[in-house]
Amino acid sequence: MKKTPKFSFWYIAVALWAVLIIQNFIISSYSLKSIPYSTFIEYVKQGKIEEISISDTYIQGTMKGDDEKGQKIQFQTIRVDEDISQLLSENHVQFTGIIENTFLRDLLSWIILAMIFVAVWLLFMRKLSSQQPGFMSLGKNKAKIYKQQSMGITFKDVAGVDEAKAELEEVIEFLRTPDKYLEFGGKMPKGILLVGLPGTGKTMLAKAVAGESDVPFYCISGSEFVEMFVGLGAARVRDLFEEAKKNAPCIIFIDELDALGKARGVGGPGGHDEREQTLNQLLVELDGFDTTIGVILMAATNRPEVLDPALLRPGRFDRQVLVDRPDKIGRKKILEVHLKNINRIDEDLDIDSLASMTAGMVGADLANLVNEAALLTVRKGKKTIAMAMFEEAVERIVAGLEKKNRVIIPKEREIVAYHELGHALVAMSIPGSDPIQKITIVPRGIAALGYTMQVPTEDRFLMSKTELLNKIAMLLGGRAAEEIVFNDISTGAHNDLSKATDIARSMIIEYGMNEKLGQVYLKGESRPQFLVMGGTGGTSVECSDQTARIIDEEIKKIIDSQYKIATSVLKDKANILKIAAKELLEKEKIDSSYLTELINNHNKSNIKE
Ligand code: ADP
Ligand code: ZN
Repeated sequence: MKKTPKFSFWYIAVALWAVLIIQNFIISSYSLKSIPYSTFIEYVKQGKIEEISISDTYIQGTMKGDDEKGQKIQFQTIRVDEDISQLLSENHVQFTGIIENTFLRDLLSWIILAMIFVAVWLLFMRKLSSQQPGFMSLGKNKAKIYKQQSMGITFKDVAGVDEAKAELEEVIEFLRTPDKYLEFGGKMPKGILLVGLPGTGKTMLAKAVAGESDVPFYCISGSEFVEMFVGLGAARVRDLFEEAKKNAPCIIFIDELDALGKARGVGGPGGHDEREQTLNQLLVELDGFDTTIGVILMAATNRPEVLDPALLRPGRFDRQVLVDRPDKIGRKKILEVHLKNINRIDEDLDIDSLASMTAGMVGADLANLVNEAALLTVRKGKKTIAMAMFEEAVERIVAGLEKKNRVIIPKEREIVAYHELGHALVAMSIPGSDPIQKITIVPRGIAALGYTMQVPTEDRFLMSKTELLNKIAMLLGGRAAEEIVFNDISTGAHNDLSKATDIARSMIIEYGMNEKLGQVYLKGESRPQFLVMGGTGGTSVECSDQTARIIDEEIKKIIDSQYKIATSVLKDKANILKIAAKELLEKEKIDSSYLTELINNHNKSNIKE
């Protein structure tokens, strides 16, 4: 901030102030003797006054005779009554009227008032501009403000997000040698959207891409655009892109894209004009630039579902990279990254068990953990950071995160583990289901707590009745396992139940796979979602109430019988369930091969008996 012009302004203010004070001082000291009005009248009556001048508010005059020093005594009094001219003439006092010259004083007081206003305003603006860099200088080159060094962050500093890194590898390659890349006809995505929970390292990843490819990094947060005054957000977007294009190859990174890119027309009444304007400008810029110039736009969000669909169209943010919560191995790697900077660590530190203890934590939590442990050590006056400090820090952080629902409590983890294994074991035990690839209890994406990955063997156009029924059994396996193991069921299965019910319904009303209703097609026209008032989710059934009741009954029958099958499969393999659950809770991720082996052993021992 330039200080000089403001200082000269203050000099002027002080000078004017001084002038005013001096003037006042002169006026007041000019009258040598102040006397009460009554005394003045007395003097007049006694004939002591020689001559006076009268203004609206005061009277100044000279008395007859001299003082000790032989000078005329001058006096001043505040004028009280209006008309004293008669009294004056009676006593032979010479008098004149004067018009008070208050012009200068009035002018000065006005100027001072104005200056105070200006000063307050300037102070206010200065404060504003320090909060929002670039506000005062709405000029051309203010985009420089966004320019950040990536501070030498590279992929080495971001651990445990290998899948996301692999996807970004190509971008780095492109930024390093754009010409070579284009020569071979490579086509870059324009916008890359990093999706993941807060603290999973999205910002770090973007910086690391810039660091790895050694290009400038322009960073701004979506919420920053929106807080600004109307019209400024759009102007900023324009400037940002202009500046970036000049400095290509480079990366533009927009953090919290959801703050800016919420679906238009959603939110408060009348929407948010400023946000919409800014979003529109962003869309215009996205459409207007060509990746061949080497500008890559990256953005981060933890709520992809609220984004305006227009942002996700091809040619805009057309590639999404999931930055997941780290699994145990990932957490171990992240801890190692953060422990590298700390040199006084006790030898008893067991990173492996630390990684087990921190299930559900993201990178930022782990960074915080290391920091907390160091602080605790200092507070306790110890020399080296011991494992106990880390354990205490874990407890503190977990307590904080539980409130925010960020951490899965052990009981929930156990339920999730058995639930997922229930799916997997049922799928592996009944023929015709898609093979299981791996099972994890690391929360995936943003909603699901765990998942069982199944790869369809081939793209299917036809599915047999048996396959459909098996699929239903597999979907119900999660809940069945919960019931067998815990004698209780949880809300975790609602997605499974809805899928299972959908399949059962389709079997009856679409595929004619029900004995009671026979080979009929009962599905009505499917209508757009918003026209359907009931809960049938876009399809309607065209039949009598009687048939509708039968459909409901038959759906229930299918579900019930498949649930029984799932339960009996799992009861039979209860010991496998137990062993595998232990392994899954320990490792957080198991391969199907492990389960296959367990099942094979189980079958062998069954045959022996
Ligand atoms: P996001 O942008 O996803 O909210 P940040 O990239 O801002 O998360 O991460 C915040 C901090 O957490 C980082 O400064 C870093 O110290 C730590 N952190 C997060 N993820 C990782 C990771 N994968 N590896 C190492 N440190 C991480
Ligand atoms: Zn499930």
